[in-house]
Amino acid sequence: MISDAFRSQMQALLGNETPAFEAALQQVAPVSVRHNLAKSSGLFSEQTDAVLWCSAGRYLPTRPVFTLDPLFHAGAYYVQEASSMLIDYALRQVANVAEPLRVLDLCAAPGGKSTLLAAALHPDSLLLCNEVIRSRVGILKENVQKWGLPNLHVSHHDPEDLATLVGFFDVILVDAPCSGEGLFRKDPAAMNEWSPESVLTCAGRQKRILTAAAPLLKPNGLLIYCTCTYNATENQENAAFLANELDFEEMPLNLPSEWGVARQAFGYQCYPHRVRGEGFFLSVFKKKNGLEEVRESVFAFRAMKALHHKDVRVVESWFENPADYDFFIKPNQEIVAVLASQADDLKILDKALSTKGLGFEIGTIKGKDFIPSHALALSTAIAAHLPRVELNANEALQFLKKENLLFDAPKGWLLVTHQGLGLGWAKNLGNRVNNYLPKEWRIRMSIEQISG
Ligand code: SAM
Repeated sequence: MISDAFRSQMQALLGNETPAFEAALQQVAPVSVRHNLAKSSGLFSEQTDAVLWCSAGRYLPTRPVFTLDPLFHAGAYYVQEASSMLIDYALRQVANVAEPLRVLDLCAAPGGKSTLLAAALHPDSLLLCNEVIRSRVGILKENVQKWGLPNLHVSHHDPEDLATLVGFFDVILVDAPCSGEGLFRKDPAAMNEWSPESVLTCAGRQKRILTAAAPLLKPNGLLIYCTCTYNATENQENAAFLANELDFEEMPLNLPSEWGVARQAFGYQCYPHRVRGEGFFLSVFKKKNGLEEVRESVFAFRAMKALHHKDVRVVESWFENPADYDFFIKPNQEIVAVLASQADDLKILDKALSTKGLGFEIGTIKGKDFIPSHALALSTAIAAHLPRVELNANEALQFLKKENLLFDAPKGWLLVTHQGLGLGWAKNLGNRVNNYLPKEWRIRMSIEQISG
């Protein structure tokens, strides 16, 4: 039920468009996904419509049970609301994505926009995906691992904890926690939590996040501020705060008018009666001033040590392009691969942050055996020549339920794939095959719906 307070707010914003807006709220929300072109370009169905502002985005005719699609678990696509894919278009327009950039996704969980940024950025860009709420860091890590790119790193900090990284980033995305008005159609229960007071609380929190983010950008660095809400307090007033008090200038975007995105005093608004998507606010700002940080070089990670060269030879064989990586070992014996092109930047982050999760954990060595991590199975960095076993959809779902299967395959480690994409590891011992899917990744729902 739309409250009177929300209705009058929307009337003030939309005037005679309000009936069309309210009618749109009664419609079923469109279902959209964004394909992971780093993993596969051949999965687009011809029956799907393209999202106009994101070449990898597609609308699906109906909502499938994504849990029962092995490709979902393989990170072949991310289920993402279409309006928010506008960030892809904006980023490509305002940032030099042909060059490696240092990028911060400050409010990152569950990771939808992190994977979107990663897809648009140069592969040597360093993307720090940060989430302050501890209970949401796990799902962020999972989605980042599924996406499979080695240049993403997850951290768990309050935005103010990043304060020593003055002038470090070229781009910061603040996809702020908000009152969520734009998602009322997808989640009608959220309407009950909305109130003018909660809008004010959200706006104050957003202002604090923007204040913490601003110094972390280089001069001329870009700040993308977005919310999934409509009200002026969270959107326009905070955008004005950036322009008037934090020394940013707005960067106008060139959006075709037929897309239906509404220009606001600051930024752009998607409304569900105008675009095929949910409510979403997007604005892009350039930092006007500030000094380029002169930073001392950092020569080593705090706790990680270079991997012994005999072990480097072992792990290199699991990578398609091992020369692109430096290998390290953590005190807990986890081996980490770091893109050599970004090792220096990661050392700076490692010194500045208490986070221990930087780098891409690829496995451990036990005796003579390298035990590959689940993240390595999902990674685009993995060597094409590794022994693999291809499963059909039913077998793949059994594997994803962590059932043991028998394969006719060579002994030893096997990359388990569906449609060529990694799902996890199995180890063939001859008389049985062990399923190495981490138990927290296991599908818990019944898979009977698709069998037969
Ligand atoms: N960017 C995410 C995505 O696309 O998947 C969605 C982010 S959601 C809109 C906002 C995030 O901000 C949530 O994960 C929430 O936990 C986090 N958050 C909540 N309070 C915060 C705070 N005070 N500072 C920074 N982030 C906060």
